[in-house]
Amino acid sequence: MKKTAHLRRLVPLLAAACLLSPLPIKAAEVSSWPAGQERRISSDDSQIQRELSKFAELPNSRPERLDRYAAWAQLYPKRKAEAVVFQVNLDLDREFYETPEEAADPANLMVLVNKHNILPADYVPELEALGADYGSGALRPEAAQAFRAMAGAAREDGVTLYSVSAYRSYSRQANAYNRYLGQYSRKTVDTFSARPGHSEHQTGLAVDINAASRKAHFEKTPAFAWLVEHCAEYGFILRYDQGKEAVTGYRFEPWHYRYVGVETAQSCMKQGLSYEEYLGLQPESGEEPGLTPAFMPESIPVSVMEGESIEV
Ligand SMILES: [Zn+2]
Repeated sequence: MKKTAHLRRLVPLLAAACLLSPLPIKAAEVSSWPAGQERRISSDDSQIQRELSKFAELPNSRPERLDRYAAWAQLYPKRKAEAVVFQVNLDLDREFYETPEEAADPANLMVLVNKHNILPADYVPELEALGADYGSGALRPEAAQAFRAMAGAAREDGVTLYSVSAYRSYSRQANAYNRYLGQYSRKTVDTFSARPGHSEHQTGLAVDINAASRKAHFEKTPAFAWLVEHCAEYGFILRYDQGKEAVTGYRFEPWHYRYVGVETAQSCMKQGLSYEEYLGLQPESGEEPGLTPAFMPESIPVSVMEGESIEV
């Protein structure tokens, strides 16, 4: 009901946007509408409303993104509504860093921090040192406990896990990012280093394990194999996987893990979903179950990370 009401409010807005947009939904249908005149719901609107309903009816549609779904569908008219909604939920209709949204609740364990979502510069989570046996740094208490439990279980399997980088403040991230800018172009730096405020390390929920460098080839180690198999049991996910670059905005980082809680982690790891994809499939109402990957469109563009070869 709520969605329908929102849809009704949006129709005149969208019709107005069509007059201004270079990609009108149905230019002919709205071109006779004189600017500034009160708009009444007519049969023309019902066409637009029908278009929008296709998006609004999907369980994972976001009412505040209906206009973006419509615009994306205009660009890719052959894509199904499911694909349109999912891709816009992933912010694929926006350039990285174009219009970042500040996290409304930075302390939420499920917080999404990426190139479209930013943390306040002064946000500092509650932190707990991991302890000398577990490498350097601190995480939020929930994540710190989970990390120690995970490292303990790995040790029993003969695998050593330790943190090489955990929480990082806004200013520390700014220093790191700027240092890389002295070595590489911004375009290249953006493929492996987050701009300040956009780093998951500032959440206190992300940790680099055993390595933080491509040169180390961590993906070829038994520790990596162990993590892929078991990290979800402790609430962690491999955050920047291969093949997900267009969604996450980063090159493959086999060492970077994010704490999201056991249930979500198992969902992501079992289904091979990036965190963005997992969230993009979640229904608007928490009462409905998450959608399955079968619902996912096949046509997600996968960009090859460009830029000079890097040694970091
Ligand atoms: Zn990292």
